[in-house]
Amino acid sequence: LFVESDLAAGAEVALTQPQAHYLFAVMRMGVGAAARLFNGRDGEWIAEVVEAGRRGGRLTCRERSRGQTRPRDLHLLFAPVKKARTDFIVEKACELGCAALRPVFTRFTNAERLRADRLRAHMVEAAEQCGFLSIPDLAEPVRLDRVLDGWGRGGDEGRRLVFCDERRDAPPLAEALAAHAPAPGGDAGPWAVLIGPEGGFSDDEALRLRRVPGVVPASLGPRVLRADTAATTALALWQSVLGD
Ligand code: SAM
Repeated sequence: LFVESDLAAGAEVALTQPQAHYLFAVMRMGVGAAARLFNGRDGEWIAEVVEAGRRGGRLTCRERSRGQTRPRDLHLLFAPVKKARTDFIVEKACELGCAALRPVFTRFTNAERLRADRLRAHMVEAAEQCGFLSIPDLAEPVRLDRVLDGWGRGGDEGRRLVFCDERRDAPPLAEALAAHAPAPGGDAGPWAVLIGPEGGFSDDEALRLRRVPGVVPASLGPRVLRADTAATTALALWQSVLGD
C-alpha cells in the first residue's frame, strides 16, 4: 500500500478512507493483520494493523522487508490520447519501470485536458499491484517544439530519445538499442521513449526529430500500432535490451 508518511521502525501510519475500505472491507483484514507499506523513499515495510475502522485506521511499522530501489533512468514522453487509453499508457509505464512520464502536445494531439490526480492514482495502483517501490514523476505537459528546442544542447542532460516512428525506413527498435548497449556491468545512462498521438507525427515533426542530436528513430514493426500498444511495446523492448 502506498502511503505519504515516513516509514521507520515503530512509525505510526494513518490510513485514508479509501485505504481503510480496501484493507478492512475488500481484503477483510482486522487488528493484528500485517500489510506491506511503501512511500517511494524508505523501502517496503511490514506494518501491523492497530486500529481498523470504517472511515480510517492505523498501522505500526514493524520491520523493513525491502530496501528502496531506484528505477532505471527511463522516461516516457507521450502525446495524450483518449482518456481510457491514456490511463492504460500511464499504468503500463509504471509497471514497466519508468522513472518519469511527460505528456507532450504535438501537431495532431487532439486529447482533452489531462487530470494529473487521475493519472497519479493510476500509477499508485499500478505500483501497488506490481511491487514497484517508486511512483514515477509526472511532469507538466509541454509542447513538442519546447522539448526539441533544448534537446542535444544540454537541456536534456545527454538523455537519448527513442523516436518511435512507423514510417518505413526506421531501424527495428531492438537493433537500434543494441547499438547503444553499455559494456558488461555498465549502465545504459539516461533514456526517453517518445510516442505520438492517434494521428501520428506530422511530416515536419518527423523531419525535425530526425535532425535533433541524441534522437534515435526506431520502428516497432510493419503494422501501425495504437499509441497505447506502441508505448507498452517500446518500453518492454527497452527494458529487455538495456534495462532490468
Ligand atoms: N490511429 C492509431 C491510434 O488510434 O492509436 C494509431 C496511432 S500511431 C500513429 C501512434 C504512435 O504510435 C505513432 O506516432 C508512433 O509513435 C507509434 N507507433 C505506432 N506504430 C508504430 C510502429 N510500427 N513503429 C514505430 N512506432 C509506432
